[in-house]
Order: sequence, then C-alpha cells, then structure tokens
Amino acid sequence: MRAIPGRLVLLGHPVRHSLSPIFQNAALRHAGITLTYEAVDVPPAELAGVAASLRAVDGAGNVTIPHKRAFAAFCARLTEDAVRAGAVNTFWCEGGEVVGDNTDIAGFETLVRSVLGASPAGAQVGLLGAGGAAAAVCAAVTRWPGGRVRLHGRTPSRAAALAQRFPDCVTVAGSAEAAVAGADLVVNATPVGLDTEAWPMPFDAIPGDAAVMDLVYRQGETAWVRAARARGHRAADGREMLLAQGAHAFERWFGVAPDLGVMRAALAA
Ligand code: NAP
Repeated sequence: MRAIPGRLVLLGHPVRHSLSPIFQNAALRHAGITLTYEAVDVPPAELAGVAASLRAVDGAGNVTIPHKRAFAAFCARLTEDAVRAGAVNTFWCEGGEVVGDNTDIAGFETLVRSVLGASPAGAQVGLLGAGGAAAAVCAAVTRWPGGRVRLHGRTPSRAAALAQRFPDCVTVAGSAEAAVAGADLVVNATPVGLDTEAWPMPFDAIPGDAAVMDLVYRQGETAWVRAARARGHRAADGREMLLAQGAHAFERWFGVAPDLGVMRAALAA
C-alpha cells in the first residue's frame, strides 16, 4: 500500500449532491484506512489556492464539475488518459508534485462491458453531448479497433472542438437523430434526466438493436433508461461508471483495489 495521503477530497462547485463520499468512505472503512473522503465546495476563483494547500499536505482526491479541465493546470504531470480526455478527475501527490489522471475513461469501459460483456470492436457510437463526459467516451472508443463516434452537441462549436481532438474516430452530426442513425451503442452524456423525467431524445431514430447507456444516474434509474428497457434495448444508467471510476481512483491513491461489493452496497443503500 502507498503512503496515506494527508487529505482525501472531492473538489467541485456545487458538490453537496455527490454520491462519491458515500461509497468512498464505505470502502475506506472496509479497508481499515483511517481517512475521511471529504466533499469540498470550491468556487472557481479559489481552485488554485486549494490545489496548493492540498499539495502541501500530500493530498489526493477527485475533481468534478466545473473543475475537471481547469485542474490540469495545477498538475506537474498528467497521465496519458488525462491528456486524452483533456480533463482530470483524479489526483494524488508524488515527490511533492501533483499528478492528474482521468478514471472516467476506464469507468465508461466498465459500464460498456457490464452491459455488452465486452468492448465492441468496430462499434458505431451515437453520442449526445460534447462536454467532459463525452470526451471520456470519445477517448475510450479510440481504443476500440474500428470504433467510431458520431456526436451531437447542443452548442455546435463545442461539438466541433471535441471532434477535432479525435479526428480518426469522431465526427459531428447535425442532429441527435443523425448521430444515432445506424448506431450499435447510444450514449447520453448530457445532464438531461438528472433532476427530471425528461429524455435526452425520443426512441424513433434509435435502432431497435442498439444498446442504450445513460451516463446520468439517479435513484431508480433515469426515465430514459427505464423507457429503453421497456422497448427491448439493453440499457444501463451511469451508476456502474460512477462506481468504476471511483474504484480506479481508490487504487491510484492507495495502491490496492477497494472492495467493489462494499462500494456498490453503500451506493444502493
Ligand atoms: P459538461 O461538461 O457540462 O457537458 C454537458 C454537455 O451536455 C454539454 O455538451 C452541454 O451542452 C450539454 N447539455 C447540457 N444541458 C443540455 C440540455 N438541456 N440539452 C441538451 N444538451 C445539454 O458535463 P459533463 O461533465 O460532460 O457531464 C454530463 C453528465 O454526465 C452529468 O450530468 C453527469 O450526470 C454525467 N456524468 C456521469 C459520470 C458517471 O460516472 N456516471 C461521470 C461524468 C459525468 P452545451 O455545451 O451547450 O452547454
């Protein structure tokens, strides 16, 4: 096991809604690690100061909305995944320097495997959204031999900027319907459905045999995932991705894997 960090935090703004403290603290207790994973609300103007104070105590943790891109500037080193995703969601200190990583990519891979049993070679992915989570999806699909993404984002310039970062694999579609035409896998990476029963898109244009994955998660699953399953699609919300990105982060901090069953049970409770 690695040296225990001086503090273990989740940096976000707002951050109170996050479920990560529930399952990370359950995993810490189960592993006998006497550290508390604290959610810390950090307004953007205070991020630099907080990053410096964490470095001073060999801190570690996670980064969430809206700091995932900005936090990279405070890291002396970025892992290959953090560079590919263009965002940091996990960090720790090594030799007094902050290392930034991205475990959302591996978390998405785990979600896909949990639904499909494997990462589909040659898959066509219809992607809704063009933010940080969408970038992690694109970074994951570039590893699938022959994998392709057609994405639709609400703000065309943001969608184009994301696609430009993955020129061999990602193209922009003019509408959500065009993005999902012929898709094997349809992924919602917008926040639609987080607080309401709204769907990110209707099902008319989604191929009947496509798997449907909603990166959003909420108690009792999202309305879109429930509706997808009722129509015969293989479907899952973002809960497995949340757990998996957290489990990968735990392993980076402590050098040992957490008990995923304990994490899952804490989240379900
Ligand atoms: P983000 O960087 O803010 O990007 C959100 C994307 O969704 C942007 O393209 C945004 O468009 C678009 N969008 C926002 N509201 C929309 C609406 N009402 N209709 C259509 N498009 C809309 O956020 P993110 O980090 O990518 O996260 C997106 C969601 O993924 C979050 O809500 C979170 O629940 C989920 N997530 C889950 C996990 C997990 O582990 N399961 C991990 C990360 C994220 P604009 O560019 O026009 O604003």
